[in-house]
Amino acid sequence: MEETEGKKLKEKLFNKKEVGWNKLSKDEISNLMKFSDEYMYFLNNGKTERECTNFVKKMLEDNGFESINNKENLQVGDKVYFINRNKSLYAAIIGKESLEKGINIIGAHIDSPRLDLKPNPLYEEGGFAYLKTHYYGGIKKYQWTTIPLAIHGIVAKTNGEIVEISIGEADDDPIFTITDLLPHLAQEQMERKLKEGIKGEDLNLLIGSIPFDDNEVNEKVKLNILNLLNEKYGIIESDFLSSELEIVPNFKAKSLGFDKSMVAAYGQDDRVCAYTAVRALLDTKIPQTTSVLILSDKEEIGSVGNTGMESLVFDLFVSELLNKTGINKPDLIRKVFCNSKMLSSDVDAGFDPIYASVSDTKNSGYLGKGIALVKYTGAKGKSGASDANAEFVAQIRATFENGNVPYQLTELGKVDIGGGGTIAYILANKGVDVIDCGIPVLSMHAPYEVTSKFDIYCAYEGYKAFWKM
Ligand code: MN
Ligand code: MN
Repeated sequence: MEETEGKKLKEKLFNKKEVGWNKLSKDEISNLMKFSDEYMYFLNNGKTERECTNFVKKMLEDNGFESINNKENLQVGDKVYFINRNKSLYAAIIGKESLEKGINIIGAHIDSPRLDLKPNPLYEEGGFAYLKTHYYGGIKKYQWTTIPLAIHGIVAKTNGEIVEISIGEADDDPIFTITDLLPHLAQEQMERKLKEGIKGEDLNLLIGSIPFDDNEVNEKVKLNILNLLNEKYGIIESDFLSSELEIVPNFKAKSLGFDKSMVAAYGQDDRVCAYTAVRALLDTKIPQTTSVLILSDKEEIGSVGNTGMESLVFDLFVSELLNKTGINKPDLIRKVFCNSKMLSSDVDAGFDPIYASVSDTKNSGYLGKGIALVKYTGAKGKSGASDANAEFVAQIRATFENGNVPYQLTELGKVDIGGGGTIAYILANKGVDVIDCGIPVLSMHAPYEVTSKFDIYCAYEGYKAFWKM
């Protein structure tokens, strides 16, 4: 091929956005496939924020991390974690430089959209027993009917006992489902707007149909279910009042496509970024700058509450790092934050050719083109966005380019079409330089979400490169 002047100039000047697969060697592809298998194992064992916290705690402990509560003092190279109410987690590796010069944070969230049980969920109607739910996060309600569902979570009894429940995953477990109307009788339903096709109060989980064998009582099916629950878990109806039971798809994470290039699974927003960040932390040797990991809860409902990113528990963790490295003084934490850098590692809307009309194709995140940097999120004139500073974006570009990490700069959909947010603004408000940096996803917030194995591996490489900065 002749190198014309134009070809040479184009090669030099154009921003190339290439699909990554073709550049990979056989070894690289087999590495990446193996990494995705391990990621899918994590997804199958972490379907709630509590399960993810437990799983990651074990990963950290197996790799030399200790609870910060057990450490009097912290030295360079020490590896610690802190668990907040079993639902969110922070971890750190103390770097060679003083924390006063800032920390390098990667923050993901481990809560995902789902259906939560109401406080008084159990009722009987028409010979069936049901559990009433209140959905959590931004879901399209019709997607949650007629699929196999599992129940995960805890029941906290007044005697202090915590009963852990996970039913609907093992091969010999029963599953649960939410019924939908047969098309033959759905004329009125089908005329409704999609968002009203299934109403929130219709999301009732079908859980049984055998009546208790006693003609002297009513609500026999409900009684039979309570009896079964009592035998199996030792709970009574009022124990639902202090429970957190989450209804999630029972689907296993699977390789998607004849070429197995993608992962289909529940909860990839944002466990794909959480897992890749944890793996990157485990591979981080003693860093120059202290490496800090955040796995947050409640992102899907606004990062509120004492396990969400808006709470001051993370500040307490950083204060403890300052106390235990022996350098704390009044207001030092504010200085630390102002000197810090963060990747808000959350998923991005992947370009979907079937729904191309909502995307600006020149600024979309593409599956298979690497980790997606989102300079700003927000909606309608960037409202609510944390807009990363150009200087910081340049530092991150340089880090990824030096580490040979494929990346793309993206925006969530066309202007004025919609929008979204992450935990980025919360840390930015403290003075941290933050950019959103995650993996493009198809069918985000659906019971089965799709990612590219190429991007998953890029995220892992990208997060490692960031912690080496
Ligand atoms: Mn997310
Ligand atoms: Mn989300």
